[in-house]
Amino acid sequence: MEKIRIHILLVEDSPSDARLLRQIFLHASQEEWQMSHVERLSEAIDASRENSLPTLDNSQIESRRQRRFDLVLLDLSLPDSIGLDTLKEFRVAIPDIPVVVLTGLDDEDLALQALAEGAQDYLVKDQLTIQRLVRAIRYAIERSEIINQLRESEERTRQALAKEQELNELKSNFVAMVSHEFRTPMTTIQTSIDILEYNSDKLTDERKTKYFDRIQNAINQMLQLLDEVLFLSKTEAAKLEYKPAPLNLENFCSELTDIFQLSAGNQYNIIFSSQGEHTQTQMDEDLLNCIFTNLLSNAIKYSPQNSTIRFDLICKDGLATFQVKDQGMGIPLKDQARLFQTFYRASNVGVIQGTGLGLSIVKKCVDLHGGHIQLESEQDIGTTVIVTLPLRSFASRQ
Ligand code: ATP
Ligand code: MG
Repeated sequence: MEKIRIHILLVEDSPSDARLLRQIFLHASQEEWQMSHVERLSEAIDASRENSLPTLDNSQIESRRQRRFDLVLLDLSLPDSIGLDTLKEFRVAIPDIPVVVLTGLDDEDLALQALAEGAQDYLVKDQLTIQRLVRAIRYAIERSEIINQLRESEERTRQALAKEQELNELKSNFVAMVSHEFRTPMTTIQTSIDILEYNSDKLTDERKTKYFDRIQNAINQMLQLLDEVLFLSKTEAAKLEYKPAPLNLENFCSELTDIFQLSAGNQYNIIFSSQGEHTQTQMDEDLLNCIFTNLLSNAIKYSPQNSTIRFDLICKDGLATFQVKDQGMGIPLKDQARLFQTFYRASNVGVIQGTGLGLSIVKKCVDLHGGHIQLESEQDIGTTVIVTLPLRSFASRQ
C-alpha cells in the first residue's frame, strides 16, 4: 500500500511531552510522518502561515516538498496563551487546518468545549497510544476535508445564486429599458407621421423636412440601441473576438477626432495630441473604434457647449495610454464605482438621454485587449477616462 505523508505541527511547550509524542510518531509504521515543533501560539500561527519550518524527525528531509501542515496538535496551556483562548485565537488566524487538542487527564470539560469551538478531536496526553494518535489524526484530517469541501460547494452555490440574481436583475432592467427607450422614439415617429399625413397641405417644406429629420433621428436612436444590445449579447456569449491587425494609433485617433469635430461643428473644441514615436502597433480597430466613440460621445454629451475636450495619446514603455478629458458635469463619487455595470447611469444625468450601456461595452473591449480602464471625475469640474492598452509590435506577433 502506498505510504501517506502527513505533516504535523506540534504546539507543545513541555519538553517531556514533546519528546514522548516524537517517540510515538517514530513508531507509527503505517504512515510516514513529518513533524515540526514549536512551543508558543504565536510561533504556531506564524509557522502555519509561512510553513517554512525545518523538519525535526524522520529521514528524507531533503526530498520533502514544503507544504502546509495537514494537522496541528495543540496543547492549550502555552507560555503566551492559556485555555480555550489558545484554540480560538489559532482558529481565527488559521481557519482551514484541522486541530486536535492535547489535554491533561482532568481536562475533559475543557476538551468538550474545544470540540464546540471547532477542534476536530482531543487526545488525553497520559493515555496516548500509537493507535489512538493515528486514528485521531486520520479522522480529524478526513473530517476537516469533508467540511472544507462542503464549505467550497456552499460557496459555489452562493456564487451561482448571486449570478442568477444578477442576471434576473439585468433581464428586468433590460425589459424596462427597452420599453422606455423604444417607446420614446416610436412616439416621436408616430406623431411626426400623423402630423405629416393630416397636415401635409398646411406645412411648409421647411417644417416637413423638420419632421422627416425627427423621424430619421428617432430611427437612428433605435438602431444605435439595437447595435449596443447586440454587441453586449455577443460579449456575454463570449462570441466577440479580438482580431488584431496593423494599426497606426496616431492616425487612428486623429481621424476619429476629425470625425467628431466635424459633427460637433463649432459647439465643441476637440483637441488631439500625441506623444511617443512608436504609434504603429497591432490592435483591433473595430474594438478601438467602439471604445473611443463611446468615450468621446460621453465627453460631448455630458459637457456644456463651447467647452474643450482633450484626447491624448502617449505611447511609452510598451503601453499606449489614451486619455479623454472633458470639462463637463462630472460624476458624483458615490456613482463612480458602478458606471461599468450595464444600465447604470449616474444620479446627476437629469434629462440627458442615454441607456447606460456605453461604458460597460467599453470595459469589455478594453478587457479583450488585455488593457485597463480608469476614471477620474469631479462634479462640476470634469471627467478624465484613462485607457491603457499593451502595445504589440509586429515582431512580437511572429
Ligand atoms: P449610452 O449607452 O447611450 O452610452 P450613457 O451615456 O448613459 O448611455 P454610459 O456611456 O455607459 O451610458 O455611461 C454611464 C454613465 O456614466 C452615464 O449615464 C453618466 O451618468 C456617466 N458618465 C459617463 N461619461 C461621463 C462623462 N464624460 N461626464 C459625466 N458623466 C459621465
Ligand atoms: Mg455613453
